[in-house]
Amino acid sequence: MLKVTGIPTTEDVAGVTPPIERLEKGPCAVIECYQKIPCNPCATSCPFGAIVRDNDINELPVIDWEICTGCAICVVNCPGLAIFTVDLSKPGKAMIKLPYEYLPLPQVGEIVDAVDRGGEVVGEAKITKVQEGKAFDRTRLVWLEVPREQAMIVRHFRQKE
Ligand code: SF4
Ligand code: SF4
Repeated sequence: MLKVTGIPTTEDVAGVTPPIERLEKGPCAVIECYQKIPCNPCATSCPFGAIVRDNDINELPVIDWEICTGCAICVVNCPGLAIFTVDLSKPGKAMIKLPYEYLPLPQVGEIVDAVDRGGEVVGEAKITKVQEGKAFDRTRLVWLEVPREQAMIVRHFRQKE
């Protein structure tokens, strides 16, 4: 499935999903890097050493979710745009931080269409923050608020016409 469509299966996603108890404590990185490639900015950029490559740059990154603070530095440094953070600490809501490289930038408070990994609109999301900075290069970090049950479904958004 992944090799044909580029879309991970439910099993693929389950394999990278942090425990619910961890997500309920606050933001945590979800590394959706499913294929072995020689790449490691995720590991080298993490200021807390939460991501390890086991000394082999070709292996899939492994994250220690208990060390991860959800700072999202790895999110803006991943060239594959394959890392997100998810936070389930607010009742009924999920906060997702995702990398964004398009213009125009969304505005805080804007309601956008929430999109899944296959590009399908699955509901609406609220933009709660847009972060940019020198350390981010030209990648922005966009914070999305979605219903809790969509925490592991929404991975992009589309601005309304
Ligand atoms: S979110 Fe921050 S602490 Fe967690 S793995 Fe990424 S860079 Fe490290
Ligand atoms: S930086 Fe991104 S694409 Fe590269 S290994 Fe890490 S998660 Fe995968």
